[in-house]
Amino acid sequence: MNGLIDSHKRRINYLRISVTDRCNLRCRYCMPKEGVSQFGPSEILSYEEILRLAALAVKRGITKVRITGGEPLVRKGVVHLVQELSRLPGVKDLSMTTNALLLQDFALDLFRAGLKRVNISMDSLEPQKYREITRGGDLNRVWAGIEAARRAGMSPIKINVVAIAGFNDLEIEDFARLTIQENFQVRFIEFMPIGLSSEWKPEHCIPCQEIKARIERISPLVPLEEGANGHGGPARLFKFAGAAGEIGFISPVSEHFCNSCNRLRLTSDGKLKTCLFSDELTDLKPLLRSGAGDLELGKKLDEALLTKPLHHGSIGGVLKRCHLPMVKIGG
Ligand code: SAM
Repeated sequence: MNGLIDSHKRRINYLRISVTDRCNLRCRYCMPKEGVSQFGPSEILSYEEILRLAALAVKRGITKVRITGGEPLVRKGVVHLVQELSRLPGVKDLSMTTNALLLQDFALDLFRAGLKRVNISMDSLEPQKYREITRGGDLNRVWAGIEAARRAGMSPIKINVVAIAGFNDLEIEDFARLTIQENFQVRFIEFMPIGLSSEWKPEHCIPCQEIKARIERISPLVPLEEGANGHGGPARLFKFAGAAGEIGFISPVSEHFCNSCNRLRLTSDGKLKTCLFSDELTDLKPLLRSGAGDLELGKKLDEALLTKPLHHGSIGGVLKRCHLPMVKIGG
């Protein structure tokens, strides 16, 4: 097999790059009110360092790159990074995960720089509830960001909803109904045990099967082979007959998809993380800053790949918990 293959014969072609651990929101399930301690400017990788690692990874077989954070749009110069990443030969799919609060200011420049699609995190459709969940976020700005992305030409627009019992579960049907008129891909994601500060308890996680059953009370869902645009990822995709948009289910907790996991994550301080639920990290920064050549750095990447576990594992039937908060990993 050609390309980047891990020790369990999975083809690894997807790199998620976190460009910052800072965020302009404090979502209750993701971060404590006071935030988490932040990396200093010299601790995070420069764009040149990120691009060097990305280029090496792309040479080895990465074809999909996602920019994330923290909130990626709070880091200055992110449009430049998008432009440079989109120019790497071999990058076939470049995307970004954002809370969209700043997207209205950046959408057109990002699109022109080569970002053709975005995933937007939005856990409530009610302004007051959204403000509560995010500790201060303004839902109007999210909608303005979505509109700006649409006007710029980005497609598909995916809306990610982390479904949490007692938090936003009463809005599941409303999110699903949104796809009847609007060409969004609304994806429900199970709440994962990530980060020490997370309020995660098994009873907070709503299995996707339950979410789907609730949605099907509105109308049956028709399964799709793949997203209309070929961008399904780990989501199982459906739509209401005749609807403009699609509905996806991502179930890392109830039905893990480790067998087909194709991803690596690079944290903003230069650590490679091969499994979201594992605490194992390979620090690439010392080598990167010691004047190492591409051969040596590439070897380190290959070694890190060997640490990718077959399975994210569970303890007594409960998913193993990753201790780094999502904001530091890059969701
Ligand atoms: N700031 C950007 C955003 O809001 O999309 C990117 C980073 S954010 C950490 C990425 C995604 O991780 C968000 O969609 C957030 O809802 C999700 N997330 C954070 N903690 C999570 C958890 N414990 N389980 C599932 N998703 C989580």
